Amino acid sequence: MRINPVNTISFKRNINIIDAHTHDKPLEKMGSNASSFDVLKFMNKPFESNGDTFTVKKMFPSSLDACFYDELTGKPYLDESKGNEAVLKTFENTDVKEFLAVCQPKDGSVENIEKLFKNHPNKFIGLKFHPEGLKLEADSALYDPYLEFAKEHKIPCLFHSYNSKFYEHPKEHWTLDKSLYSRPEQIYTLAKRHPDVPFIMAHCGGTGDINVEEAVNTIITSAKKGDAKLYADLSWVSIDVKEDEPFMGDLINAIKKLKNSEAGDLTDRIMFGTDAPIDRFSKENAVESYRGYIKNIHKAIKENFGTDADDIADKIFFKNAKKVYFNKSLKQSKTLVGLAFLGIGALVGAGIYIVKNKDNICKNLKEIKLF
Ligand SMILES: [Zn+2]
Repeated sequence: MRINPVNTISFKRNINIIDAHTHDKPLEKMGSNASSFDVLKFMNKPFESNGDTFTVKKMFPSSLDACFYDELTGKPYLDESKGNEAVLKTFENTDVKEFLAVCQPKDGSVENIEKLFKNHPNKFIGLKFHPEGLKLEADSALYDPYLEFAKEHKIPCLFHSYNSKFYEHPKEHWTLDKSLYSRPEQIYTLAKRHPDVPFIMAHCGGTGDINVEEAVNTIITSAKKGDAKLYADLSWVSIDVKEDEPFMGDLINAIKKLKNSEAGDLTDRIMFGTDAPIDRFSKENAVESYRGYIKNIHKAIKENFGTDADDIADKIFFKNAKKVYFNKSLKQSKTLVGLAFLGIGALVGAGIYIVKNKDNICKNLKEIKLF
């Protein structure tokens, strides 16, 4: 009988995805109403690539109107209360169940966020900050009360990050114009003041190798020193330079660097995100672009990481975001361990008490029996 060697069998895999960075609408709709369909078209619709099945199981939208100033009024398009209420309304009775609450440290107040969490329990699983859109340096003290709130509620914070802007491809033409507000080093400064709070740098420092490297190096430095909890999402990292010419080099280099860092394997620090439905994810071929991005990332991981590829893909597409945003079991297990200790303590205490007071207890028992 001929037996196929194991390595010739190919296993089809079901790959679940969390898109940890989405919004309620594209930029074109800034200031006008959002439609849940703008992003729902990407969710819970399994598709295949090379025999594997991919399903986007969860998305965490945040209000785009609350992230940017309206140039005409000089105020955010929507304030902290209205913006976050609006995003809940948009996704009422849909499969989107979790949201990030946009915070406006310069224009709002943490009390608005406290009220929001009170009025809508279990809806917001994290806070979202846009230092660039709301023109406030990411290391400003105005963020601190919100970070205290995040610590108290054990929720992570997503920060728009961009190290420097560039204007044109190819790379030689990029203009190194450092961001005033949202550089990884500024986010790190703030994160060090709040070392218990997970900080996710959206866009991993921004598109382009210099920017991605900057964010990755910051993550590694913080992990080495153990002075902050830094993560990054993949939105706008390795975008299609041209629609038909995907460039995955920056993403792969980032994963390699994190995997072999001086602080050990840090591939749990990076998670999938898209910023959908912004830009190409609101165009006519949005679904195709979205799926293409997932397929390209998966293909590049498969091509570069051999037997580790499946593990890395699972972490980046699903497990890392799950751990950061839904670490309830971790908290629960801590509580359970605490309760178990209390239980054991109570039993030991009771045992000592029984031994010490054996005669009295027996007497009391007898007395109870008598009555
Ligand atoms: Zn965004």
